[in-house]
Amino acid sequence: MRIDVVTIFPGYLDPLRHALLGKAIERGIMTVAVHDLRSWSHDVHRTVDDSPFGGGPGMVMVPTVWGPALDDVAALTGPAAESSPLETALAHKLAHTGAGSVTDGDGTTGPVTDGSGGEGGTGEGAGSGTTGSGSDCGSGDDGTTGRDDRPLLIVPTPAGAPFTQETAARWSTEDRLVFACGRYEGIDQRVVDDAAERYRVEEVSIGDYVLIGGEVAVLVIAEAVVRLIPGVLGNRRSHEEDSFSDGLLEGPSYTKPREWRGLAVPDVLLSGNHALVDRWRRDQSLIRTAERRPDLLADVDLSARDREIIQGVIGEVTEENC
Ligand code: SAM
Repeated sequence: MRIDVVTIFPGYLDPLRHALLGKAIERGIMTVAVHDLRSWSHDVHRTVDDSPFGGGPGMVMVPTVWGPALDDVAALTGPAAESSPLETALAHKLAHTGAGSVTDGDGTTGPVTDGSGGEGGTGEGAGSGTTGSGSDCGSGDDGTTGRDDRPLLIVPTPAGAPFTQETAARWSTEDRLVFACGRYEGIDQRVVDDAAERYRVEEVSIGDYVLIGGEVAVLVIAEAVVRLIPGVLGNRRSHEEDSFSDGLLEGPSYTKPREWRGLAVPDVLLSGNHALVDRWRRDQSLIRTAERRPDLLADVDLSARDREIIQGVIGEVTEENC
């Protein structure tokens, strides 16, 4: 996967070089290029905003800068061709672990499983084959498969559709994601309308609150998406059993020691009986979801036993209480 981010604060995206994302870069699973929007500005002050038509507070980001920036990023031309991909912050760690397995302090240990780069990859161009320059930003149809090969432009905005685990899973199979980070009162709407000529466009919100800028939203989205790409997590089961993958919240987790400050780990987890442990985890997941997010239950396939467990928390499962 190739990720391009357009922002007026390139340094804000530095966390993408660390931990699992840094590892994905190191392995060539992902390439990230961060572009300074001001490279496309036209004046000595490198202006990217202006006052809003119709009056009102704040400033709006101008289309005359965003338009050419997104044109160039789609085609990897102009200033977009000059940005070097981010380098992983983890190179030293992989160099010392050798082939086989990597432990990086994220609680993930495991082999490279998808062959999309391998141990010790350079992080540039060794991944999905979509990392080079000269992307076709024209018709969108690749002429052979009928697939729309235009990059996906993601515009974070509080006014967007909610970003969910389902969205993350859908985007994790994309070859190219381009993010447009708004600031001030946001980006002139015509930029989004016009970009549909060269991109598939999605406007998304990461929650019902207002951030200062889109950069943090990009970090959130990139983490959620990239960890779902095969080979990024050491153990696939990690994300298959996470909250939201089956529509429920995950239950509590425990590790050593067995007893800590007078609190014991539930006996069933020490029983060695996998069927019992699985049933206990399902029950805990149902209980936690019923207590904290009953709204999620409406979309989950529930067995008769699942319903009994939930009834113990919220009573009969009805349209009103979930
Ligand atoms: N005037 C805008 C509104 O009320 O919808 C808010 C603009 S906000 C101050 C500036 C930028 O932060 C947005 O353009 C967007 O990129 C980002 N942003 C803020 N809140 C967000 C959210 N909940 N989800 C995604 N992006 C957000």
